[in-house]
Amino acid sequence: MNEDDMDQESINVEIDTHAIEVSTLNMLKAFHEDPDREGLKNTPGRVARMYSELLAGYAMDPQKLVNSAIFNVTYDEMVIVRDIEFYSLCEHHLLPFIGHAHVAYLPSGKVIGLSKIPRIVDMYARRLQVQERMTRQVADFINELLQPRGVAVVVEGLHLCTMMRGVRQHEARLTTSAMLGGFRTNPATRQEFLDNISRGAGPLKI
Ligand code: ZN
Repeated sequence: MNEDDMDQESINVEIDTHAIEVSTLNMLKAFHEDPDREGLKNTPGRVARMYSELLAGYAMDPQKLVNSAIFNVTYDEMVIVRDIEFYSLCEHHLLPFIGHAHVAYLPSGKVIGLSKIPRIVDMYARRLQVQERMTRQVADFINELLQPRGVAVVVEGLHLCTMMRGVRQHEARLTTSAMLGGFRTNPATRQEFLDNISRGAGPLKI
């Protein structure tokens, strides 16, 4: 685990909305806007409330999130949850990147309630992120939680910082993956997952 990860894991507090209000006011002034005009006078407060929602993942306790949703079973076939929508903010520009995550694991005695997997993705998405790290965090979390025979996470994201900043010649769509256990060591298992998630998948749109 590198330093970045440790910092992220240790944060478990509400963000400082007052400081965001002050900073937003200062940004409006720096744009040479009139912060008192009709459309802007409530903007600092709105932005602060928005960030506390968009970055709510910092205040979520992952253990509480999954509590009581882990079941002992003998089922050992691949479990796949695909097309999980996520909304995140890139840590380089504070602009959104959004898309879909696909998660699979090979149970080894334990499964998790299916509705919890989108919530795990959401918890890691609602932080300042880079897509590569978010992908790995979801995989590592499920791996530690369920100790399955394998975990696979594929994330497809559209990055507004690339789309909006006049660097459109670069591909704004990014695919990242994390393969652990059987998904890493067994090409047939990995292929079964990749075939499943590519089946019937529509083009990524925003
Ligand atoms: Zn960015």
